[in-house]
Amino acid sequence: MGKVYLIDVTNRDGVQTSRIGLAKLEKTIVNMYLNDLGVYQSEFGFPFTTHEVNYLNANLELVEMGVIKPMKLEGWIRAITKDVETAFKFVPKIKHFNMSISTSDLMLEAKFGGKFSRKDIIKNMQDAVKLGYEKGAETIGVNAEDASRTDLNYLIEFAQAAKEIGAKRVRYCDTLGADDPQTIYERLKTIAQKTKIDLEMHCHNDLGMAVACSVMGAKGAIDGGVDAYINTTINGIGERAGNADLLGVLLALKYSSGLKDKKMFPENITLSKIWEFAKYASYAFGIPIPVNQVGVGDNAFAHESGIHADGALKNRRNYELYDYEELGRGETELVESGRMITVGEYSGIKGFANVYGKLEIEFKNDKEAAEILELVRYANVHTQKPLTKNELFFIARYPKQARQIMTVSP
Ligand SMILES: [Zn+2]
Repeated sequence: MGKVYLIDVTNRDGVQTSRIGLAKLEKTIVNMYLNDLGVYQSEFGFPFTTHEVNYLNANLELVEMGVIKPMKLEGWIRAITKDVETAFKFVPKIKHFNMSISTSDLMLEAKFGGKFSRKDIIKNMQDAVKLGYEKGAETIGVNAEDASRTDLNYLIEFAQAAKEIGAKRVRYCDTLGADDPQTIYERLKTIAQKTKIDLEMHCHNDLGMAVACSVMGAKGAIDGGVDAYINTTINGIGERAGNADLLGVLLALKYSSGLKDKKMFPENITLSKIWEFAKYASYAFGIPIPVNQVGVGDNAFAHESGIHADGALKNRRNYELYDYEELGRGETELVESGRMITVGEYSGIKGFANVYGKLEIEFKNDKEAAEILELVRYANVHTQKPLTKNELFFIARYPKQARQIMTVSP
């Protein structure tokens, strides 16, 4: 039976969202969290974009060093040979890609002005995939943008052509969040049965069904006989109403009445750091977690009304579907209420020693300490926020990569 894998797109779809962004150091920390969580692959950025280049190359170095392992880092490009050329020029060691091209008649007409026929789209895609492998790619997935509004027969033809040229997966993009769980299930099952290529779900939340469509699309793929890959973002951040929420997808696979016994929960996933990750992402994005957010909202395990409070206290299963401990919640958090030393771009050596001392990080000598302090100052210029514990750890442990990640030369 087919398996489910997660491909997180926070560092691509999440950061391309209107008014939402992450500094390159923050994107790196997101990759580290995804790796710890057991996510299969992170779509870590745009390898044809000049300001991403140092970040992308440094993160691939972290893979070589075994710091990010076993998670794969994959770049998003358009399925055109020009992007493939540029990607390998800027990021020579890149091994994994998703290549995207629109497939709906609506977009062929309204986006490309009728310049490309359905046949041209398939040819562009095949040329790009072929060149990608020639240049040294190990895995390539092909994205059908607006797949949910694409004629099913053409989508099958497209997927078949992708398979023939060696693509590992086809990404079914519900770009506008237009599908419903039943429809996406049927469509994915049909594509899987007819093509036998692994399928990716990429669902948006415009109708509030991104998680529901993702898990049901995945079930369709599996029932059709292939593996399913689900695209997620942390806290559901993404274009417009967002993408499928990472934690929502995992909890749906693990606890929903119809899926919990279907063995669809991905192997190697550990949820114990998800609470910490969700809070870090909220801080880095500068976007509060809604109180009613699945699993990590302030109210996710709160009870006030008489009947609910009484019931939850008697037995948590009365009103709690899963345990907060599983998500890494439950510890009392200490908040400094007196003096607080933070580090930033104007910090001096004493304050710096105080902060790192609390993290129990020691330096070999004063020279090393001074070097790290200098990097920490730059990191603060870079993120424009007081640095977090894991950012400080990262800089102290991987100063060379930190320096590269923060370097942008216009
Ligand atoms: Zn998207």
